Amino acid sequence: MWQSSTLENGRSGAHIGKMAREQYESLLKCPMCGRTGLADMSDDKSHKTGDYDTRIESVTQGFEIKGKDVICSVCQVSAL
Ligand SMILES: [Zn+2]
Repeated sequence: MWQSSTLENGRSGAHIGKMAREQYESLLKCPMCGRTGLADMSDDKSHKTGDYDTRIESVTQGFEIKGKDVICSVCQVSAL
């Protein structure tokens, strides 16, 4: 039976008593110099508003976190 393993898209349905926080990686690419990297992101879901608040936890060397954006530290342009 192929019916029981539909957990792949259980991202929104799972309620395991953890914090409603999701972590993922986002690919970075500078449009100017073509440098690529990764950003560790996390989403905090506000219980009041239901909105997601995205936080950038860390980025590959050569990129900088600037508020909710990631910029190439050489070109100073958004790489998200
Ligand atoms: Zn660059």
